[in-house]
Amino acid sequence: MSNPMVKCSVDQCTHYMPGEQCMAAKISVYNDELKGNSGKPQDTLCKAFHHRKTMGDMVGAFHNANIGGTMTAAFLEGTQITPAVECFVNNCKFWDNGNYCNAENIHVAGPNASKTSDTDCETFQDNK
Ligand code: SF4
Ligand code: SF4
Repeated sequence: MSNPMVKCSVDQCTHYMPGEQCMAAKISVYNDELKGNSGKPQDTLCKAFHHRKTMGDMVGAFHNANIGGTMTAAFLEGTQITPAVECFVNNCKFWDNGNYCNAENIHVAGPNASKTSDTDCETFQDNK
């Protein structure tokens, strides 16, 4: 089992914090629903994305907030906080059994994202 450090530039997301940080406790990376599999980073998405302009999403965002012990410890130690990553893109070369991601870092991006499918795991690489 491993967990990558998450860098995210999706500043439209409620979980985003300046410094390319994600404050969610956990994120799930999926294939875009329409296609059902991924051949390039644009076919993947971060399911934990919550658009910060949508009031209804605030509740969901707070549910998945990485607050409390982990965050306090991270701030005290000066380390960067990172969410647990679960990934269902099983043809990515970093994917591992149990829906783990073996990459050291992942980069989530999605300029002006307004929905989950606007976000991508830029680190995706087809294992073919
Ligand atoms: S888009 Fe995903 S990785 Fe980025 S801040 Fe939101 S929940 Fe975190
Ligand atoms: S790098 Fe691959 S295995 Fe890791 S989260 Fe992104 S798509 Fe999933």
